[in-house]
Amino acid sequence: MSRFFSERYSSLVPYTPGEQPKNMEYVKLNTNESPYMPSNNVYDAVKKEAEKLHLYSDPQASIITEKIAKRYGVDKDMVLVTNGSDEVLNFAFMAYGDKEREMLFPNITYGFYTVFADLNGVKYREVPLKDDFTIDTSDYIGKNTTIVIANPNAPTGIALTRDQIEEIIKSNPNNVVIIDEAYIDFGGESCVDLVHKYDNLLVTMTFSKSRSMAGARIGFGIGSKAIINDLNTIKYSTNPYNVNRISQVAGACAIDDDSYYMDNCKKIIEARQYTKNELEKMGFFVLDSKANFIFARSNKISGEELYLKLKEKGVLVRHFTSEKIKDFNRITIGTKEQMDIFLNKTREILEATK
Ligand code: PMP
Repeated sequence: MSRFFSERYSSLVPYTPGEQPKNMEYVKLNTNESPYMPSNNVYDAVKKEAEKLHLYSDPQASIITEKIAKRYGVDKDMVLVTNGSDEVLNFAFMAYGDKEREMLFPNITYGFYTVFADLNGVKYREVPLKDDFTIDTSDYIGKNTTIVIANPNAPTGIALTRDQIEEIIKSNPNNVVIIDEAYIDFGGESCVDLVHKYDNLLVTMTFSKSRSMAGARIGFGIGSKAIINDLNTIKYSTNPYNVNRISQVAGACAIDDDSYYMDNCKKIIEARQYTKNELEKMGFFVLDSKANFIFARSNKISGEELYLKLKEKGVLVRHFTSEKIKDFNRITIGTKEQMDIFLNKTREILEATK
């Protein structure tokens, strides 16, 4: 830390992203990216758009915003496109976080929430999950405070139903309920249509997972016009050109090619079930995931040892060191071929530790 760093941030512990290795080719199952390439139309559109890189991007991101609005059955004024969904989440913490009132989210969830809260001076409480790693919805009913829930949750992959989410939204009418649906296309029930019924709901989504564009950094929020207006106030006070030109066209094309991406999600769901079955045969305890990853614990080897040995063998998975989940590994679901490599290497490791 330099001696110039503001005291405001001196104790901030930043988020640690998953490894993005440059030294060798791994079977990369550690950051929940899609194993599938973007659709063909994206390449042509991106190439054409590159000719206009000397000009600023459209601050309103009009074309992609309109396409997202149509895809999700909402008015374009109910959508804000951002630089990854991390950005819309950060905006939401800025807009609806408070110094005095506690923001609530689960104690095992997306690790960035505590960082957004600390960055923005937001008071928060992490609500314990139940012993089976599910969210106890009664902890969030009628709490009269801002709530953030990832649905499906990460890194567990476990989803709440749309009805359970609606109960939470309905019972906190004077506060914003943020539902982070980064992984919703892999089998969960989206609550996005509830934005027509509740003005306190903000749903966030991303192109990073189901739409194969983690590197383009495109996310978006859908909520009432008033909520989107609040978030725009923050956006235009930080970075009006938050989504670059190339990403705007890439994202717009991806919405046009929706069926390609949704078909890929089906393949990932199949590979997820296959991987879960095979791991269970090896004695793993695997949570019931509705995301493009699974969270699994071996009864024969520690989470850290498995992570390290897989890495030696060229397979990257994600291991978290926090006490409650240190026995687990989070394994992104890739193609069936990638999962077979992962499963074979895991079998070899377990054989060798007998
Ligand atoms: N929410 C959750 C639950 C996530 O796991 C991630 C991915 N790290 C994000 C949001 C943010 O994704 P992105 O910024 O790539 O849209």
